[in-house]
Amino acid sequence: MLYCEDCQILCRGEGSCPVCGSAKLRPPKPDDPVLLITVWENDAVKISAAFDDAGLPYMKRNMNLGGTSPVILGKSRASQTRLFVPYAEMGHAEDTLHGIGIIKDEPNKKEQEDISGKESGKKQKAQAPLSHGKQIAARIISALLFLLLVWGVVSMSDIFAAWIKSLF
Ligand SMILES: [Zn+2]
Repeated sequence: MLYCEDCQILCRGEGSCPVCGSAKLRPPKPDDPVLLITVWENDAVKISAAFDDAGLPYMKRNMNLGGTSPVILGKSRASQTRLFVPYAEMGHAEDTLHGIGIIKDEPNKKEQEDISGKESGKKQKAQAPLSHGKQIAARIISALLFLLLVWGVVSMSDIFAAWIKSLF
């Protein structure tokens, strides 16, 4: 895990920053501000309140059209807020976001942005892995139910056979 000082983001397993391309990455220090999440203003208000309650230090930066980094978002948006927290508080901050329902699941950070961006009317592929997982779960459950059914029929007929025998 390396840190880009210019973008204030963590770069996972990459030799250069995916945003600015800088190769001057270094390991993060506990008090480095790290981009936690980019949200719409109303979510930012909710998050700020939760962070205040949790005693979490954070930093807000509004993204105006000029300051937007299209690479992070894939598209530029006018009224979003970036939240930064010290590197040492990342885990605590993510827990807090989970607690107030801003983040549902680790890999779905993107989906959260998509939900916020519903007005743009675009559904993204981010939901695909979820429904795929659900499909697999449904298959496993129906397989289990089938086994249960077979087991039930077999043991029922055993009981029935034993009952028949007991009659004679
Ligand atoms: Zn960078």
